[in-house]
Amino acid sequence: MTTQTETATWPEGVIARYLTVGGDTVDLAHMDRYYPTEDGIGETRNLTFATCVGCHAAEEFSHWRVVKRMTFDDEVRDLGAADTAARAWAQAHAEKCRAMPKPTA
Ligand SMILES: [Zn+2]
Repeated sequence: MTTQTETATWPEGVIARYLTVGGDTVDLAHMDRYYPTEDGIGETRNLTFATCVGCHAAEEFSHWRVVKRMTFDDEVRDLGAADTAARAWAQAHAEKCRAMPKPTA
């Protein structure tokens, strides 16, 4: 079976791609996204971002997780855990999403 998505070039930054049952894709990418905060300074969060091209469902997986210490909470960057969670979400979504690609012609 040959589909258009197998031969098409991946968008820049996409690290993994899952073919949905509807024939579209769920794309995974790393990104740094800015979030405004109440103090006006804002913060940038490092994410693995999963988005379905077909139905626009999306999920963010932070690269940072909180580690409880004796006297304080620490944050460590855990890219592997974020990617693993994102891949699981993408796989599960791709298995059930029936949104179809919009015809280009
Ligand atoms: Zn979808």
